[in-house]
Amino acid sequence: MKKYQFPKTYIHTIPIFPLGMINAFLLVNTNGCILIDTGLPNTENKINRVLKKLNLDFNDIKLIVITHAHIDHAGNASKIKSLSAAPIIAHKADLPYFTGEKKMFFCATGWFGRLFSLTGAIQRPYEAFKPDILLKSSEKFGLNDFGFDGEVISTPGHTEGSISVIVENTQAVVGDLISSGILLGGIIRTNRAKRPPFEENPLKVSQELKTISDQGVSTFFMGHGGPLPQVEVLRHIEKLKTVANK
Ligand SMILES: [Zn+2]
Ligand SMILES: [Zn+2]
Repeated sequence: MKKYQFPKTYIHTIPIFPLGMINAFLLVNTNGCILIDTGLPNTENKINRVLKKLNLDFNDIKLIVITHAHIDHAGNASKIKSLSAAPIIAHKADLPYFTGEKKMFFCATGWFGRLFSLTGAIQRPYEAFKPDILLKSSEKFGLNDFGFDGEVISTPGHTEGSISVIVENTQAVVGDLISSGILLGGIIRTNRAKRPPFEENPLKVSQELKTISDQGVSTFFMGHGGPLPQVEVLRHIEKLKTVANK
């Protein structure tokens, strides 16, 4: 029996902030599109701009993946869901933050994270929502039913409920498991991996990145900066191990 061939998927970056500072992503093939992350509240025009360029609109979005509960990724989920009518998939461990029941806590990884926390910008509440599909513990969710060769996997560490999307076994969108550039991410040095401003469990992050890399993923797309080749991610994994041992 011939295996069903999915059409080739393209990963388009949606600049929520310019210069790679905050990215969302659109997976596109001839079957439609999947949105990964929704950006800060009231930034739907940034997503619309990319959709339009591709001759698509919000109705073409078949699924919304929320990589984790931080406001720069989940902050506009409720609005995008109402514009697109697409279901939202996310991880159960971050559910109390999506629904606003619990306030996020932030483990700063350096001076920028600490300073950024002080501004209060990242702790702002956003419109609460309830994901339609919830991954539990290390569950996976195949994207074949949506017409895509890919899967959503659980990758805890940045937050407990962080998830990533593997596309065609060779590319991955990993949210904030890793970032690059300076400050929030992006601007310059975008080819150099670094820890995001906040990270709950560096050892767990290094393990999840290693698992994705071992699967044969060669290009990593991320919420801040990037994309990064596998070799740079492997370098970062080694660095994270020393951080975790301190
Ligand atoms: Zn984050
Ligand atoms: Zn982020």
